[in-house]
Amino acid sequence: MTDDDYKRSTANLKKAVPLMMKHHVAATPANYALWYTYVDNAIPQLTRDLDEVLDLYGVCPPAAGAQLYSNYVAKRADTNIKDLRSNIELLVGQVASTMADTLVDTSQFSEMIDKSFKDIEKVEDENMSLEEVMKVVRQLVDESKEIRHSTKFLNNQLENASEEIQRLKQQLADVQKDALFDNLTSLYNRQSFDADLRTLCNSGRSLSLVLTDVDNFKSFNDNYGHLFGDSVIKGIARRLQLSSRDGIHAYRFGGEEFALIVPNKPLQVACNFAENLRRSIEKLTIKDRRTGKQVANITASFGVAELQPGEGPEALIERADDMLYEAKNLGRNKVMPA
Ligand code: GH3
Ligand code: MG
Ligand code: MG
Repeated sequence: MTDDDYKRSTANLKKAVPLMMKHHVAATPANYALWYTYVDNAIPQLTRDLDEVLDLYGVCPPAAGAQLYSNYVAKRADTNIKDLRSNIELLVGQVASTMADTLVDTSQFSEMIDKSFKDIEKVEDENMSLEEVMKVVRQLVDESKEIRHSTKFLNNQLENASEEIQRLKQQLADVQKDALFDNLTSLYNRQSFDADLRTLCNSGRSLSLVLTDVDNFKSFNDNYGHLFGDSVIKGIARRLQLSSRDGIHAYRFGGEEFALIVPNKPLQVACNFAENLRRSIEKLTIKDRRTGKQVANITASFGVAELQPGEGPEALIERADDMLYEAKNLGRNKVMPA
């Protein structure tokens, strides 16, 4: 690692941290690695993708950030990541030696200096023999060896710690990936939804929320079995996923309920989008494996709300949910407001 590398890594960290704050990014190791790689422009495609996210949302929704991290940063074993890793290790090393210096300065080293000065005074005052002078010098050498040894020990400890950090980072990335998506549908899960909606509500940009709930879903379970019910959920999730363009993200909100966050779009546009989804689901058929027959008449109801200035995620969800309730009351298979 050269001085230039060190300067570059410090400069990158100095650029990354304010950007992370500006875009409401949590200070996790994964996020540091993502934003470091971003400002370093080490993976141009990552930079482009993240720019697109920032363009759309004005902030970085946690789920989008976590996905970019696991797609581009966590899995890549190329030089850029090695670079990042050694830069971080170097930074830790710098801290280690500063720490060791401080420890030495404050305790052993000052003791040794004090004692040596006294001994050297003795040399002058007491007209010490050459043998006695040599004894003082030997003592000095021994003690400085000891100090070097303890510094090395500290460095080793910190080196082990930084290896541990690397290992934990990878584990964290794996766990985060698992925690991001719903197992049945592979859509983003409820946890991702909560985190994204909170971040986006605080971003100061406009957004609309679409909540949808499958109509009379219980009857599919009752008539065709739970596994068929699962297939209906998967089929609808696929439709939602395929229709999600322009930065729209689909989430599994709960059992047979889904949420879609529509960024930068007013209520009317989000309602039209929901209306298209409603029609698309209406056409969906799912095969009943037990009889081989296609089952139709799958419908869903939709509630839509646009974020009001100063509104929080809970209030927005409640208003969209009220609209969904209206759609159910009006006979289902509807989008509200119409
Ligand atoms: P409504 O039109 O009023 O929404 O009626 P509904 O039957 O869809 O509503 P209800 O909330 O009564 O039923 C939802 C059912 O969904 C209840 C629950 O057993 C079932 N469910 C929840 N999660 C899953 C799942 O992952 N798989 C399957 N197969 N069923 C699920
Ligand atoms: Mg329901
Ligand atoms: Mg339902």
